[in-house]
Amino acid sequence: MKPTTRRSFIARAAATLGTAPLLSRINALAFPARDTAPIKARPFELKHVRLRRGPFLNAAEVNRRYMASLNADSLLHMFRVTAGLPSSAKPLGGWEQPENELRGHFTGHYLSACALINASMGDESLKARGDQLVAELGKCQKALGNGYLSAFPETFFDRLRAGTNVWAPFYTLHKIMVGLLDMHTYCGNQQALDVLKGMANWTRRFVDPLGDAHMARVLEREYGGMNDVLYNLYAVTGDRSYRQLAARFDHERVFAPLAEGRDELKGLHVNTQIPKIIGAARRYELTGESRSRDIADYFWREVTGKRCYCTGGTSNGEAWNSAPGKLAGELSGYTQECCCTYNMLKLTRHLFGWTADPHAADYYERALFNGILGTQHPEDGMTLYYVSLASGYWKLFGLPLEAFWCCTGSGVESFGKLGDSIYFHDDEGVYVNLQIASEVDWPEKGVKIIQDTTFPESDTTTISLRCKTPVRMPLRIRVPYWATRGGTVKLNGRELESFAEPSSYFVLNRTWQDGDKVEVTMPMSLHVNAMPDDSTLQAAMYGPLVLFGKLGSEGLTKENLRAEPTPIREVPRYRVKASAAPEFKTRSQDLRECIEPVPGRPLEFRTVGQAQNVTLVPFYKLLDERYGVYWKVGKAG
Ligand SMILES: [Zn+2]
Repeated sequence: MKPTTRRSFIARAAATLGTAPLLSRINALAFPARDTAPIKARPFELKHVRLRRGPFLNAAEVNRRYMASLNADSLLHMFRVTAGLPSSAKPLGGWEQPENELRGHFTGHYLSACALINASMGDESLKARGDQLVAELGKCQKALGNGYLSAFPETFFDRLRAGTNVWAPFYTLHKIMVGLLDMHTYCGNQQALDVLKGMANWTRRFVDPLGDAHMARVLEREYGGMNDVLYNLYAVTGDRSYRQLAARFDHERVFAPLAEGRDELKGLHVNTQIPKIIGAARRYELTGESRSRDIADYFWREVTGKRCYCTGGTSNGEAWNSAPGKLAGELSGYTQECCCTYNMLKLTRHLFGWTADPHAADYYERALFNGILGTQHPEDGMTLYYVSLASGYWKLFGLPLEAFWCCTGSGVESFGKLGDSIYFHDDEGVYVNLQIASEVDWPEKGVKIIQDTTFPESDTTTISLRCKTPVRMPLRIRVPYWATRGGTVKLNGRELESFAEPSSYFVLNRTWQDGDKVEVTMPMSLHVNAMPDDSTLQAAMYGPLVLFGKLGSEGLTKENLRAEPTPIREVPRYRVKASAAPEFKTRSQDLRECIEPVPGRPLEFRTVGQAQNVTLVPFYKLLDERYGVYWKVGKAG
């Protein structure tokens, strides 16, 4: 497919919608109060979960280093300039450069990531950095005098109101508002809440004079999750006026068909939609209104079921270009924008909370292992914009001071909260949803759960319990969709007779003693994920992992493994062409028939008996090389 740049996408979307769309991100993770909808399972707070040694902890550490390397004055520079305050700092590059209309968005993400990393790793220096930024942003807001706070002037909003060309001012504002909210909820920063309220009150003064038709036009421009952050502000403050303001950002043109179970998503910019659906999910939780739940639930099922690739990612050229279930023609170098994965995980977390449905956790695992892990450069923490799913592309990372794409922002958050959604709980017991080396503290129950595993390198996880006094509770261990070969559970070394079906929970309801150990083994096997509309286009999977075929590094130099500094309003482009992928032939046109494990090398596979054979590895083990995911499989003989 012809590569789609943001510029050409914007031109195309502007022609159809009369507006320029854009991108987005996730936000605050835990507001226990004021939910009126029934919640079946709550995620443990990040501060109670710690990662242990393994690929996830490594990625979190790399991210923390990248975060620490950035200069606070540079992150503040355009905020100060906009507020008329002196600044001699070196401006950031990429989408943060002084001429870029999204400038300031990354500072919002940065605040969120400081808060998340403090909660999940106990990092005090990044908390201090976040506190410093909040204090300095507070000075900028004070200098501006009316609650407004941004790295660009209010005239951008005049253009939005007037319907003249501007990128996405509310999108950017949303990032800053969530950053402040996260600094408040995770780090207890009171000033962050005050600054956020000032911004919300400014937003109210912008929105109030607009009639519904005028507001509907404003909502055609990408606005991130303005509804979501304002519903959350209501949750935190109890002030109903924020709930009313949030509702003005509920996008009825998009919501109405979803509420009625109609997929009218074709032609829409993907990451413009997911955050507003998260807002609908939050509205349901806070109000109990079933229509909002229907919107989020139908959207989630439609997107995960019919619009996601085998990796759990979605979007091509940032859009949904086809009817549901039509994906074979949607492979390019610009598939699966990483912000979309980040936001789908966030939405999934809400859905799981309502249902405790193991299928939602199945999706979470798929998207996390194939769409987040592996999108980060292991040396400098740079993240991808897209995960290309057409053959012959490679991981195109940005440069630490010259990218600041939307996905750089959602990336520092994704890798700042890897402990999230591993464990959930209800009043009685625990759900262990992901096999990730980690531990969780549940002070209310007086129990700590430690998960030791090298999964996915091995298929065994050991769960140990620590408690001062015996604790009666159900321990629910997720058995994933891919565990079709069954599994075994040993309790304190003794093998139990029963197991559970794929996509369900194995429940151990008993009184736990300190030191009790549960050892779970779930063998992985090869399976095939074919395109829903072309069964001859197949991807290989092993357990939860999509296998990426290594296609060599011909024509790739050090320079073109990295994206060029991004011109204003453009997305990164590949400097050299994709290479062709081999086709495979097997007896029954089943990719599994030509793939074998490589002895002595865990998670490494190789095709056999083909004109051109290929080595396959999980996404997170592949770097600086061309790859293929979907293969054309013909009939041998
Ligand atoms: Zn993005």
